[in-house]
Amino acid sequence: MKFKIIFSLLCIVATLNTGCKTQASINTQNAAKANADQTPKNIILMIGDGMGLTQITAAMISNGYKLNLEKMPITGFHKSYSSDDLITDSAAGATSFACGVKTYNAAIGVTDDTLAVQTILEEAQDAGKETGVVVTSTIVHATPASFISHNRNRNNYEEIAEDILDCKADYLIGGGKKYFDRRKDEKNILDEMKKNGYAVSTFLETDPENVVVTPGKKLFYLAADGDPLSVEQGRNYLEPLSMKVINALSQSKDGFFLMIEGSQIDWGGHGNNIKQVVTETIDFDKTIGSVLDWVNKNGETLLIITADHETGGLAINPGSTMDSLVVSFATTHHSGTLIPVFSAGPGSTMFSGIYENTDIYHKMRHALKYPKRTQPKILNVSAKK
Ligand code: MG
Ligand code: ZN
Repeated sequence: MKFKIIFSLLCIVATLNTGCKTQASINTQNAAKANADQTPKNIILMIGDGMGLTQITAAMISNGYKLNLEKMPITGFHKSYSSDDLITDSAAGATSFACGVKTYNAAIGVTDDTLAVQTILEEAQDAGKETGVVVTSTIVHATPASFISHNRNRNNYEEIAEDILDCKADYLIGGGKKYFDRRKDEKNILDEMKKNGYAVSTFLETDPENVVVTPGKKLFYLAADGDPLSVEQGRNYLEPLSMKVINALSQSKDGFFLMIEGSQIDWGGHGNNIKQVVTETIDFDKTIGSVLDWVNKNGETLLIITADHETGGLAINPGSTMDSLVVSFATTHHSGTLIPVFSAGPGSTMFSGIYENTDIYHKMRHALKYPKRTQPKILNVSAKK
């Protein structure tokens, strides 16, 4: 008898428990759907070039097994392959995010047939949003170039610089001054940009800490003549200038689109240089910490953090400790592993799961409630020049 009562009680408890769990999972599902239905006013897309899971893990361990990245509430993965290679390059990778098309390695904002495709940054501008790009490579490098220009080949830096002249982005920050003012065709694109309303500021004149970013006033800050310094060499502008740009963009009535890139994580991978991988990833993560704090306070911004691909085939090997990593690299090129995606803010729950790199573009447009596209929007400009 006693046994029967206990058994019945257990059954009741079990039923209640199951009931509660079901209700809890329904609540979670409802919350995820409500989040997915929200329309963000702003989007910040952060790309750690070459930042695969092992780069993140190595930086995390080297930083006391903690990163700001782990505060991101939603995680997913994308498939990074390009149209002509299982192993993507940064041009095809960035074009997939910017334009929603799988294209060939070296393509900058163009289809497989070298037709220019409207980028999400250009579409956001057309919708009245202000825009910006902040990177630690040259501004004409593959990742930023794929959002603000169109070219059949990533190595055509001077053509890309000329195309950036017409990009209308409000804030541009990166290196590569020489592609604008010491060109083979002897044009001075910096002078042209000044005519287009940009305040042009360079590392030669201004310490990044002193750069003034004024709401409503276009700025082109050139951090270096060619490639900006590495963190180890003293580069320190990614976090402060990203935040200054965000504060200026936040004054925009119709919102903004901003792309921030930690460009040199990739270069550490190519060089099989674990110290550079770690210091560049931690620099990117420091920026993530400040951006996420702002996003959490703002409440109207969708933040997406991902990489274009992994670089180096990095492994953390037996013999590693919390204080000292024993690593190896499988290659000096990129690898083909799945790439993590982290998101926060309105619309962020859409970014859980496993999907194509091009879906990042489609999910961003979906979040902004832009009309559904089945074909890329081909622009009436020549990417061949
Ligand atoms: Mg890059
Ligand atoms: Zn690379």
